[in-house]
Amino acid sequence: MSAEAVILLGAPGAGKGTMAEGIREAGNFIHVSTGDMLREAVKAGTPLGREAESFMSKGMLVPDETILKIVRERLSHGGAEAHYLFDGFPRTLAQARGLDAELSASGVTLKTVLLLDVPPALSVQRLTGRRICRQCGANYHVQNIPPRRAGVCDVCGGELYQRLDDRRETILKRLEVFQEQTAGLIAYYHERGQLQRVDSSGPREATVAEIIKRLQ
Ligand code: ADP
Ligand code: ZN
Repeated sequence: MSAEAVILLGAPGAGKGTMAEGIREAGNFIHVSTGDMLREAVKAGTPLGREAESFMSKGMLVPDETILKIVRERLSHGGAEAHYLFDGFPRTLAQARGLDAELSASGVTLKTVLLLDVPPALSVQRLTGRRICRQCGANYHVQNIPPRRAGVCDVCGGELYQRLDDRRETILKRLEVFQEQTAGLIAYYHERGQLQRVDSSGPREATVAEIIKRLQ
């Protein structure tokens, strides 16, 4: 087997992170979430983090060159048989082209692009209720995926928090940015015969099962 990559594409709130969590084991994937990588840099207060925060807090995209640099760095450690699961990347045409170049240079095959499809109103509901574990990064939702004890992570007992960019105004901005800068990737991958649409509006387990089936 050679190295492969799967892309999770979808609007904010479509469930990319939740699905990545659910299917990670099924393909022994290396989860590459640019959002998580950027949040770690913000938390660590690195120069990258300081640059990224100014965009993220407004719901805007971090510049392509910065993103491509951190992804390249991650790919250089994967090895010849790695299975990558890209979550939240690529997000612009320039990033998609940069990824194509990077994959062919490192001999990684793009296996499929899964478009997680949800209506915008559901995205808003999911994002406003989303809570994340400060310690292990596990995802919850106050109604849809509640933790056993309010505010406490089931997995590790860590404290749950709400992302700064999950405030209503920022959510609306992120959805707008998705339409303007990322939605074009749907046509890009569709034209190349690489896109599969997955209904992501149902319960978590149903979507996870559907995706695992598509990946086999
Ligand atoms: P969501 O998909 O729900 O918006 P992410 O965690 O993927 O959540 O992204 C959060 C923020 O991080 C984005 O709004 C953007 O500012 C930044 N970001 C993440 N990935 C990228 C990317 N590939 N290109 C540019 N900015 C990104
Ligand atoms: Zn936790």
